[in-house]
Amino acid sequence: MTNTPLFRDSGNLDQDQFLTILTREEALERFEAALFPRAVASERIALSEAVGRALARDIVAPIDVPPFDRSNVDGFAVRSADVAAANEARPVRARLNDEVITCGTAPKKPVLSGTATSIATGGPLPRGADAVVMIEHTQPVGHSAIEIRRAASPGQFVSYAGSDIARGEGLLRAGTVIGSREIGMCAACGIAEISVARRPRVGVISTGDELVQPGSKLGPAEIYDSNGAIVTSAVNENGGEAIFFGAVADDEEELEAAMRGALQSCEMLILSGGTSKGAGDISHRIISRLGKPGIIAHGVALKPGKPLCLAVCDGKPIVILPGFPTSAMFTFHDMIVPVLRRMAGLPPRSDSKVIAKVPVRIASELGRTEFVMVSLVEGADGLIAYPSGKGSGAITSFAQADGFLRIDALADQMPAGAEAEVTLFTPHVRVPDLVIVGSHCTGLDLATAPLARSGFSVRAIAVGSLGGLAAAKRGECDLAPIHLFDPNTETYNTPFLGDGLELVPGWRRMQGIVFRKGDARFEGLNAEAAMRAALADSACIMVNRNQGAGTRILIDRLLGDARPDGYWNQPKSHNAVAAAIAQQRADWGVTIAPVARDAGLGFIPLAEEHYDFALVKARKTRPAVQAFLQGLASEETRAALEQAGFRKA
Ligand code: AMP
Ligand code: MG
Repeated sequence: MTNTPLFRDSGNLDQDQFLTILTREEALERFEAALFPRAVASERIALSEAVGRALARDIVAPIDVPPFDRSNVDGFAVRSADVAAANEARPVRARLNDEVITCGTAPKKPVLSGTATSIATGGPLPRGADAVVMIEHTQPVGHSAIEIRRAASPGQFVSYAGSDIARGEGLLRAGTVIGSREIGMCAACGIAEISVARRPRVGVISTGDELVQPGSKLGPAEIYDSNGAIVTSAVNENGGEAIFFGAVADDEEELEAAMRGALQSCEMLILSGGTSKGAGDISHRIISRLGKPGIIAHGVALKPGKPLCLAVCDGKPIVILPGFPTSAMFTFHDMIVPVLRRMAGLPPRSDSKVIAKVPVRIASELGRTEFVMVSLVEGADGLIAYPSGKGSGAITSFAQADGFLRIDALADQMPAGAEAEVTLFTPHVRVPDLVIVGSHCTGLDLATAPLARSGFSVRAIAVGSLGGLAAAKRGECDLAPIHLFDPNTETYNTPFLGDGLELVPGWRRMQGIVFRKGDARFEGLNAEAAMRAALADSACIMVNRNQGAGTRILIDRLLGDARPDGYWNQPKSHNAVAAAIAQQRADWGVTIAPVARDAGLGFIPLAEEHYDFALVKARKTRPAVQAFLQGLASEETRAALEQAGFRKA
């Protein structure tokens, strides 16, 4: 392989680009070629520590299991020839030998013809005996004899020595992942220690000036380091032993020192962040100084995950994952897990896959293998895969999805109705009992809480009111929460229902003007006066809402023809409006009362918005739907909604 630099090593950001973008397959092939073959180191560990580890060497059984011929039942050890003719009508009498063989007792007296010895399940068969009769098929005769009422064939109720595991038999093969069953086999043979593949020590470093570790307080413009926790646990899940070195600032010297330090004790290094073209993206420059051959791929035709950087320095893999958590996860699972498992002596991961239909067209960038996270629901004829991504910066998309589908690099879309192969994040599909698709509201969690307690699983997919209505009309969900205002009739929701849908009243959300408490332009005023004051002050900045939001209609009415500063800042959620005002990027906006309250903002009530449910009539009798309707009507739910600032309809 040639080792041409993939980017110019200059400080000039304009020139610091991805000069060579490799396909996913090419990048993985080059990475593996630079790392393998290599010996997998092994270590001896206690059997009790071995769950999940890969066996380094074949194990041969050192003893017979069971080690002696033993009884499988409670009864009497006999010579089968003595009782060959026994039956109910003509029982055979046997004299009892003067010993009782329990588990752990070695027999001392032989079973001679015409005698029997009392024996417990698991007891060793005495000399002379070749069968056991069950106690149920005998009758005591005084203290020293029994009558036997069934015939016994040779070997009846006897497990012979070595019949389970024979000494010298191959017990387990190298590469087997140890679970409780394998541990049981070793324990039965008396093996207390085994040789397993050593878990590669993997150093994990997050990079970025903005990162704060969970548990500490966030300052302005800071975010929590989620990649550190995700990568560390994903390494441990896939056979590595992660060592987390914390988050390092975007400082070349500091980062180089941290990387060199980590490499001293680790066989692999995984960084995240700082691998794109942005200012302060420096990790890849450092790699070129850490060993040969250095960078193998920087820029892979993956979406998300293009800035992925793969390197090998003096035999140790060094990976820089993209900073966005979702991108980091996909590239880790797709490109790093195969390499890590191989280093750890583990077999390739086996993922479960299912076929599902995509209900909407999914656009895709030509030339990049695209991964799309999906939530699975049961449709009229088979599984439906809803794209659930919130963009590569979203961490929840990973946690809430059931799996992902892949769109080939050569395709520019996946059409609505296409059948796709979905790789599951869990071993089995978990189809929810109740599917809610539409607009999201924090009240939804309160309304579905009683269901969860009675064992129903609920899946809420946020696609907005119109998306929810469309899904309900296609019969892909049970309920679609909507809050759509019809200006013609001046009513909410009802005008939008079609055939097959009925309205279930939900709750009311008070919308109002929000501002920072104490702001004299708003404090103590009614809506009209507050608007006059805000519009009269040219330094007063607003935050708007996206076109199509119910809240936007209210804002447009308030503003009339006015277009104050901030009008074009149009976030898509109530929380974003509250954050903008709390952080002083804006002075006022419109949001719902519970959000204003949680953000500690002042609130001037404007109007109540109706958040209701379009119910798919054909699904009304389903047990989970019935449970939802009952829960929604309950006093408990009403109280919980009101406690949170909603008014039950
Ligand atoms: P970068 O690749 O460093 O430019 O980062 C891209 C985006 O991912 C930025 O929004 C970063 O703040 C974010 N990011 C980077 N590292 C982390 C991390 N460890 N945890 C959460 N977000 C991160
Ligand atoms: Mg960064």
